[in-house]
Amino acid sequence: MNVLFMGPPGAGKGTQAEKIVSEFQIPHISTGDAFRLAMSQGTPLGIEAKSYVDQGKLVPDEITNGIVRERLQQSDCDKGFLLDGFPRTIAQAEALDEILQSLGKRIDHVINLKVDRSFLLARLTGRRICKSCGATYHVIFNPPKQEGVCDKCSGELYQRSDDTEEKVGTRLDEYTSKTAPLLEYYQKRNVLREVDGEQDIEDVTSQISSLLRGHSE
Ligand SMILES: [Zn+2]
Repeated sequence: MNVLFMGPPGAGKGTQAEKIVSEFQIPHISTGDAFRLAMSQGTPLGIEAKSYVDQGKLVPDEITNGIVRERLQQSDCDKGFLLDGFPRTIAQAEALDEILQSLGKRIDHVINLKVDRSFLLARLTGRRICKSCGATYHVIFNPPKQEGVCDKCSGELYQRSDDTEEKVGTRLDEYTSKTAPLLEYYQKRNVLREVDGEQDIEDVTSQISSLLRGHSE
């Protein structure tokens, strides 16, 4: 069973991915991990990728696709995999189809975690961090006992500049505009499954799990 996970920042994609790979005993493949593995193993593509990363440059698609191919060829992917964070563009989605076709595989399900923009804004802009000890809080979901003050060290809490409504809004808009074509791409292939990501974590997991079980043969 080959699964691809999609969802905006703050939708809980990472949490759900961990639960699903543990239930289905398939590897969780993120491009970040695949890159780190290739670099640490010193494969030719890993070395090439590292030279871009070291220069602070974007790794070209050819290399990224090659690293994904190498990762998907490994034997732990024989029974399936959960791919996360790739593809990000139609070009990458097409490359992935080619890679999988050459390996005699295909994507069976694309799970899209749907979460409302206002919900994500509340979740992402509510984060507060302690200036002294780095402890994290959330004004709604995990508030400190006293507003603006760290429970652990009485340090002052602040909001990261990335977590302001304006910055978060921009991140969400970017995600939406980038992924809309991808969702359409997978919709046309009848593999797109929408899951309501605003439910409790356990409910989201069980919905994903039954979707995957219902269709996997
Ligand atoms: Zn503190």
